[in-house]
Amino acid sequence: MKRILTGDRPTGKLHIGHYVGSLQTRVALQNDYETFILIADVQALTTHFERPELINESIYNVAMDNIAAGLDPEKVTFIQQSMVPAIAELTIFYSMLTTVNHLLINPTIKSESRNYGFGENDGDFSYDFSKLTYGFLGYPVSQTADITFCNADLVPVGEDQVPHLEFSRKLVRKFNELYGTSITVPDYKLSQVPRLAGLDGNSKMGKSLGNALYLSDTPEEVWNKVRNAKTDTNRISVKTPGNPDVCAVYHYHKAFNAGEVENVCSMCKNAQMGCVACKKLLNEKLNALLDPMRERRSKYEANPSLIKEIVAEGTKKANEIGNENIRQIKEKMHVTM
Ligand code: SF4
Repeated sequence: MKRILTGDRPTGKLHIGHYVGSLQTRVALQNDYETFILIADVQALTTHFERPELINESIYNVAMDNIAAGLDPEKVTFIQQSMVPAIAELTIFYSMLTTVNHLLINPTIKSESRNYGFGENDGDFSYDFSKLTYGFLGYPVSQTADITFCNADLVPVGEDQVPHLEFSRKLVRKFNELYGTSITVPDYKLSQVPRLAGLDGNSKMGKSLGNALYLSDTPEEVWNKVRNAKTDTNRISVKTPGNPDVCAVYHYHKAFNAGEVENVCSMCKNAQMGCVACKKLLNEKLNALLDPMRERRSKYEANPSLIKEIVAEGTKKANEIGNENIRQIKEKMHVTM
């Protein structure tokens, strides 16, 4: 069985955008691949270094969200990144072969630097080197180590991660050529699913934006968010024909109610359904998705030590693999005593 490595940054609970963008793919692939889920707490420090306690408590929430979404803890290996020294060692070795310029031209590093205030956008983006940290700039290097410490074959990615994976592939090839190692050059599988926007109409969903619909939300919380979702603001009454294309609720029907979406579109355009009824229908569909997750989660919420054991077991397995691989790599590099 080939090995997949994927994961999450533990900076909070996972939301429904994570489910659409990656969790449902993981669930679908878990029977065909050996699945490693890396809970990337070191990578989370690159942007949340002032909030280590948030990262620590999020490790178990993220593992629970993955299991609630349908990943089978009997099959899947959950790994706490910071507890795998082989990843840190490999990061250092890879960094020797990486030029600063190669990282600075990475388009995803540029756009994320903009988001985190590590640069300014005056027409052309320019970095602010008094703010940009060494750790943040280098995270494609540590991500390469995350993927390759266990010789993962495949990484499912969104569009924004493609430059990182291309970088990883080049770096691993260069490393293998130089030292005669046989580290697996990772392949990637591009997700075709468009990013889910916020129910408030914002093109992004996120905790900091206050518009996230969490996998762990209660039915009441879901309804509150759906009830307040942005609709076609020109639709002033039920009798006014609506424009679904500008309505966040309609975009959620597309994602979670494929069977009825055409009907929703036509009823909206022909003023045959009001927005409250439309939202209630979406609410039903969302809860139909989330109810089985709530059911699976309840076992772990009642006994949180189960989640800790799952992460500890997975991390132990990752260390067995990583320690042997890094031993072989160091031997080839003549990093020996
Ligand atoms: S009927 Fe539905 S799709 Fe149309 S504007 Fe209202 S909420 Fe949006």
